[in-house]
Amino acid sequence: MRTRATVEHPGGRVETDPRRRTPRTDTVLADERLRKASYRLGDDLVKQAVRTALDRCRAGELAPDDVTDAVLDSLPRAATRLRRVINATGVIVHTNLGRAPLSSAAVDALELAAGSTDVELDLATGRRGRRGRSALAALQATVPEAGGVHVVNNGAAALALVTCALAARGRSVVVARGELVEIGDGFRIPELLESVGAVLREVGTTNRVRLSDYEAALAGDPDGTAFVLKVHPSNFVVTGFTSSVPVERLATLGVPLVVDIGSGLLHPHPRLPDEPSAAATLRAGADLVTASGDKLLGGPQCGLLLGRADLVDRLRRHPFARALRVDKLTLAALEATLLGPASPVAAALSSSPDRLEARARRLADQLADVGIVPPPEAVTSIAAVGGGGAPGVELPSAALALPPDLAVRLRTDPDVPVVGRIEHGRLLLDLIAVPEADEPDLVAAVRRAAR
Ligand SMILES: *Cc1c(COP(=O)(O)O)cnc(C)c1O
Repeated sequence: MRTRATVEHPGGRVETDPRRRTPRTDTVLADERLRKASYRLGDDLVKQAVRTALDRCRAGELAPDDVTDAVLDSLPRAATRLRRVINATGVIVHTNLGRAPLSSAAVDALELAAGSTDVELDLATGRRGRRGRSALAALQATVPEAGGVHVVNNGAAALALVTCALAARGRSVVVARGELVEIGDGFRIPELLESVGAVLREVGTTNRVRLSDYEAALAGDPDGTAFVLKVHPSNFVVTGFTSSVPVERLATLGVPLVVDIGSGLLHPHPRLPDEPSAAATLRAGADLVTASGDKLLGGPQCGLLLGRADLVDRLRRHPFARALRVDKLTLAALEATLLGPASPVAAALSSSPDRLEARARRLADQLADVGIVPPPEAVTSIAAVGGGGAPGVELPSAALALPPDLAVRLRTDPDVPVVGRIEHGRLLLDLIAVPEADEPDLVAAVRRAAR
């Protein structure tokens, strides 16, 4: 990097004060390439980038002649300050990194849906069509056990809609004490249910609940019970002296059974034996299943409702459903996730540990010359599914181990931030959720961080 560039002035004096040589904002903005960038990104982002570059120039960190190139380099690819991040945490579904990354099929669908589409128009008849019918059809075809399906904004919205439609005006929801879950960021399922007017009837204890507990609660309030709710403890595990009642038995109680499976797995996954799937839960007798679309399904943020056709229809027609309606982008991305090739989440879940280790070794070789001590090393690691589901499941993975002081520099990389995790005093860049196509960017970021 050039610092404090000096030039000869006609008078023969050497000008070393960078302030005097800093170009004017207008002059920089008049550059044809920056005018084009303004057209694409809007004036604000470009002006902001110019101001930042000129500040660096004044500070002597950037030569005046390099200002325009520096501005162009620093401009985002799209008009958003959101940054693309490489998820090297080893947590496949990372809430703070936007949960599921979308498949390229879903991204293509988003682009198509961004314009005007027939999302709610039947082109053959010219009449209004059922909104999102092709996405809903794809969901139903994937889970034929469901008599009806509906999609809302997220898992919490799915649960809120069920409660509003079936249990408002003081009717009660029977739920086990051990399933009164806090999802994250302070959101608690019991508070959500109560906020839409349901009365909670808690049964059992923190660690144990029996069918007879549910039966006693229902006998005490046979008409006022709207449904029994079973919530999958998706972000914690209770071990030891525990018992809960399986779906098969709850389904015999004579009131609707709603199961919040959380993760959005539609079919059982061999690597996640304890994670409930929508299909298996419906087969076991649940009347309705609620789930998120952006956890293990690997789709866009949305809430899935699957189950008895008459109940789904009631939900769909409830006035509150409109407030939870998903947009055309979500419907398009969901459909493409269902119909397209394996999502990145699905690919990460089934990645082979040997392959991950080979990738880690290759990256360590490529980076052997960066001159950090100790040098980058390929190590085995244990990855996790994430807050999105399957707590306690350990996925064999591999990582690039680096000195811990690189963590902040990688996370604040100006080009592509890389987020890893610190373990036993080392920074691990776990590869399970890093697409192979991102490896060149990862290598480049480590080189920058090591400088
Ligand atoms: C994640 C989760 C939710 C909330 O879903 P969102 O899509 O985050 O609104 C509800 N219940 C369970 C069991 C969950 O795991």
